[in-house]
This record gives sequence, C-alpha cells and structure tokens, in this order.
Amino acid sequence: MIKVYGVIGDPISHSVSPDIHNDAFSRYNLNSFYHHFHVTPTKLEDAVKGMKAIGVRGFNVTIPHKTAIIPHLDEVDETARAIGAVNTVVNRNGRFVGYNTDGFGYLLALKEEYNQSLDDKRILLIGAGGAARGIYCTLVKEGIANVDIANRTVEKAKELVNDCPYENHTRVFSIHEAETNLNQYDILINTTPEGMSPHTERMPLQLHKLKNDAFVSDIIYNPLKTKLLEAAEQKQAMIQNGLGMFAFQAALAFEIWTGIFPEVERMKQIVLNKLGGTEC
Ligand code: NAP
Repeated sequence: MIKVYGVIGDPISHSVSPDIHNDAFSRYNLNSFYHHFHVTPTKLEDAVKGMKAIGVRGFNVTIPHKTAIIPHLDEVDETARAIGAVNTVVNRNGRFVGYNTDGFGYLLALKEEYNQSLDDKRILLIGAGGAARGIYCTLVKEGIANVDIANRTVEKAKELVNDCPYENHTRVFSIHEAETNLNQYDILINTTPEGMSPHTERMPLQLHKLKNDAFVSDIIYNPLKTKLLEAAEQKQAMIQNGLGMFAFQAALAFEIWTGIFPEVERMKQIVLNKLGGTEC
C-alpha cells in the first residue's frame, strides 16, 4: 500500500516540499506520496488526530504550527523541545514523534559553504523568531559558544537565550547596537524576513562596519540574492542564501522517515527550477 506523507501549514499552497520529497520517494522506489495540506490553527488538533487515524507515516510542519503542534504529539525529541518547535513528525508504530531539523539543516549548510572551522569565530544572529531559535540552540549545542543575537525586540532575544538549555556566552543587542559593533563578527546570519519577496528592497541592518573578510548568510531563498547579500557582496564578503538550509532540513526529515539521506544537490536544483533562478 502506498505510504502517505505531507506538510501542514497556513498558507501552504506555495510550498515546494511536495516537489522535492516526491522526487526523492520516486528516485529511491519507496512507493510513497507527499502532499501539502492546508490546516488552519483552529483545525490543528483535528488534523493531527485525522492523520494518525488514517496512518500518515510522517509530515512536515510549517508556519504557524511549529510550536502549537507540540502538545498534540506523543513524544518530542530533546533538541526540538529545547528549541520549542517541531518541523518534522514521524509515525513510529502509531505514535507521532516530533523533531526539529531546521537548526541542524542550517548548520550542515553553513559548514558546507563556509568550509572553515567555526570554533574560534564570532557569530551574530539577527532575529529571535522561530528560525532563529532552531539555529541558535543548534549552534550552542554543538559547542559554538560565541554567538550573539541582535533583535528588534531585545526582550525576545533575551528569552531565547534563557530558554536554550546549553552553555553559552551570548550577548544580546538592539539592531542599532549591532550595526555599531559589526566589525567584531566573522559571520552574520539574517533570520528575519526583511528582504523576502515581495519586500525585496528591505534590509534587516546596515553593513557599513562589516569586516572585510566576513561571511554573510541569509536564510531567505526567495529571492536567492537579497538586498543584504547584494550589499555584503559589494563589501567583498562571502555570501550564502537560504537554499542550502532548506535542502538540508528537508534531507534530514527524509532520513528520519526512511533511513535514507537523499541527494541534497538534487533537492536544491528542484527548488531552483521552481523559483526560476540560478545559485548565487
Ligand atoms: P518569525 O518567527 O516571525 O520571526 C521573525 C523575526 O524577524 C523576529 O525576530 C522579528 O523581530 C524579526 N522581524 C520581523 N520583521 C522585522 C522588521 N520589519 N524589522 C526587524 N526585524 C523584524 O519568523 P521565522 O519563522 O523565524 O522566519 C523568518 C524568516 O526565515 C522567513 O523569511 C522565513 O521564510 C525564513 N526561513 C527560512 C528557512 C529555510 O529553510 N531557508 C526555514 C525557516 C524560515 P521581533 O522579535 O521584534 O518581532
């Protein structure tokens, strides 16, 4: 019998996840199908019960359900609990178990594209929302202790540091303070939606004080080159967009469901084809 997988979110019709997972299921002959399901917040509990009743084998969870789904699951893995968000659920003998692959997906993409040791580097994370929680907790869990956070709402960044149970030396700043101190950082990671389509003219902060050899990473992948990345490139910085994170978090989810780690480059290419762009 065909195994059913999916993604739940609101909105969801724009999702490219069905394209990449269905391609991987067919490539590995897994007789499985992945579909996007539009689930509004008031229907979340019913949707989870329904998916369990019909034997859905696994699913991704996206905005706005990543935190709200936790009480509806049978078990949540330690890292996902520390992050406070689940983006991947697997059906283990009728029990729904939640994971978070966003943070580790980001770390794998960073290691692949930065290609230097992260141990002695100073990192500035911009933003303290859902994606930042996954990235921050994963970096400090992996022992990368020099991660500071700048956020529009400074209190929210403080909360994120307090909620994350791993040892760190994190300092928290306003965006303005971060702009002033930018020359202290080797790696800058934008996790805010500033610059995402359709608001492509926006930037989360100014880069006047950026170090010459800095690495600037933006987790947005639509557009592939945000205004922030354009400005960083003009200052001779190395740049990275969000495509790698997206592909690696999907690959890690696929591995949780099937035991197979799929070809990440192929997943990236499918997203690029769908967006009609080329890698920057
Ligand atoms: P979120 O939970 O809503 O958090 C948004 C963060 O951005 C908050 O810290 C918020 O600050 C800040 N922010 C929002 N608008 C701002 C503005 N006008 N000026 C300054 N800061 C602003 O969102 P999220 O789920 O973390 O997603 C953030 C971005 O990451 C989105 O663009 C999403 O598409 C992208 N993303 C990419 C991937 C990938 O695989 N590449 C995965 C997940 C998310 P306050 O705390 O002050 O509100």
